[in-house]
Formats: sequence, structure tokens, C-alpha cells
Amino acid sequence: MEFKKAMVVGAGTMGAGIAQIFAQGGIPVTLTDQSVDIVSKAVAGLEKRMARRVEQGKMSAGDKDEILSRISVGAGYGAASDADVVIEAVFEDMGLKKDILAALDEAAPERTIFASNTTSLSISEMAAATSRPDKVIGMHFFNPPVVMKLVEIMPGIGTAPETIEAVRGLAEALGKQPVQARFDSPAGIGSRVLAGSLNEAVEVFAQGLASAEDIDAALKMGCGFPMGPLELIDLIGVDIHLAKTETLYRELGDQRYRPNFLLKKMVRAGHLGRKSGRGFYTYED
Ligand code: NAD
Repeated sequence: MEFKKAMVVGAGTMGAGIAQIFAQGGIPVTLTDQSVDIVSKAVAGLEKRMARRVEQGKMSAGDKDEILSRISVGAGYGAASDADVVIEAVFEDMGLKKDILAALDEAAPERTIFASNTTSLSISEMAAATSRPDKVIGMHFFNPPVVMKLVEIMPGIGTAPETIEAVRGLAEALGKQPVQARFDSPAGIGSRVLAGSLNEAVEVFAQGLASAEDIDAALKMGCGFPMGPLELIDLIGVDIHLAKTETLYRELGDQRYRPNFLLKKMVRAGHLGRKSGRGFYTYED
């Protein structure tokens, strides 16, 4: 299948980066969110990061302009009418994702594949909100999406083999390394394995055993983690990490995924990590 046009719904931490990946791969993409204003801010953020790379000599000014020219700003579902693939990257909330997929189902032609970037929610359940469960699939980019090579592909119970093949080909064409979970299971492969370690780091911090800095240093310098687990939760978003562990705990019933109450308090206080300026650490910019 040829992917000539894409749409990304949700211009947050993941969606904006995913739109850049499509644009870098030569596929025109419309990035949408609840308002054009949110999307414009997200695109301004991409522009700023690319401008920094141009200054550092890591990207040419021409490439930056070309990539940005392939990203259109939008809101609503109109852009689905000629999209070959729509990536859904809104909040980790099943009700919201189902509403959005149902609306996209009305707006998009039959051929359009719907790929969800969900970390832990059921692809089969999302697919049931549409008339095309054979064309609904999980396509999980990792954070930061422009940098991380991995894309996890996860079929729902009704996903057609052709959809799996098409999305695998798409991931490769975008310069990513696809891996595949054989069936729909909360948090797939990488995030599920990682969730246990991240939860344990929060547990150790909440018990007061060590400072955030020392926990992160221990895992980086002693265990080869490229980033400390608490810094990583700040990067992921404390709310997103909490939603993921809550789903894993609810769905699998395994104590190792039980989120520490501290995470709930942090989310209630708006300490969401880097995106809100405060999480386990505080951030100036
Ligand atoms: P985020 O909170 O940064 O962004 C979510 C965006 O969705 C926001 O901009 C919000 O305005 C938008 N949104 C909410 N309701 C909407 C609607 N009705 N229509 C259009 N847009 C709407 O979240 P994120 O971290 O980018 O996560 C998005 C998805 O990606 C989640 O499913 C998450 O589990 C998954 N994911 C996150 C990470 C991570 O590290 N943050 C990694 C992999 C996958």
C-alpha cells in the first residue's frame, strides 16, 4: 500500500514528533488537535528544535523548511477525507480515543488505516468503535519519537494481516525499526517490561530510601540505563506513566504494576514532568 498523505490527531509530546517523522519521510501530513492554536504552538516548537539543529550544523536550513512545508495545521476531522493513514495520539483515555475513531470513521474513505499510538489501551476495543476493525492497529512510537528508532506494531483481534504488513512497511519507510507484538496486550513489549522498573524507582523514592538524583545515577551508572527512571517518567509525563501503570494493574492484576499513590498526588498537583515544568525535578524552560 502506498502512503501519500497522513493525518495525526493530537499535537502533544508524541503527535507533534510523529508529524515531523512523516514530513521527514516525504509524506505530507496534517497535524490536528482540539484547536488550531494548540497545533500552531506545537509546530512552532518543532521549528525551534529544528532551528537549533541547523545552528549546530546537524540539519540544513533547506531541509528544515522542506520538512515544515509538508506539515499542515488543522482541527476537526476534515483532513481524514484524503488521508491514507491516520495516527491517533490524544490523551491516554479510552472514551476519548473511541469517540475520535468513530468520528474519523465517518470522515475517512474505506481504505484509510487508523493507527493508535496508545501505550496501554486495547486496540480491539478501539477498533470496535469503527466500521473497519480490520484496518485499526497499534503503532507505538517511543519518546522522543523523532529520535527513538523503535516502533511497536500491535494488531487488535480483527486486524487484517494486510494492515499489519502495510504498517510494518510504513514504519520501515519512515526510517524506523518495527517490532511486533503478536496480539493485543496492555503496553505491548517495551513499555510493559519498562513499567515494572519505573514503578520500582518511584517506590524507592516514595519510601525515602534515596534522592531522585541518586536513584537516577544508580540506574545510569550501575545498570547501563541511558536515562534515569525518574528523569524518564518526567520526560514521558507523570500522567501518562500513571495511566499506563493503572491500565497494566487493572488488566493484568499483577502487583508489580500497582502505581504508588505519590504518582496520583503529583498528577493532582499538576506536577506532570517536563511538560508542566515540574515533576520529580523542576525545569526552567
Ligand atoms: P500529551 O498530553 O502530550 O498530548 C495529548 C494531546 O491530545 C494534547 O495536545 C491534547 O490537546 C490532545 N487532545 C485531547 N483531546 C483531543 C481531541 N478531542 N481532539 C484532538 N486532540 C485532542 O500526550 P502524549 O504524551 O503525546 O501521549 C499521546 C498518546 O501517545 C497517548 O496514548 C500515550 O499513551 C501515547 N504515548 C506516549 C508516550 C510518552 O512518552 N509520552 C510514549 C509513547 C506513546
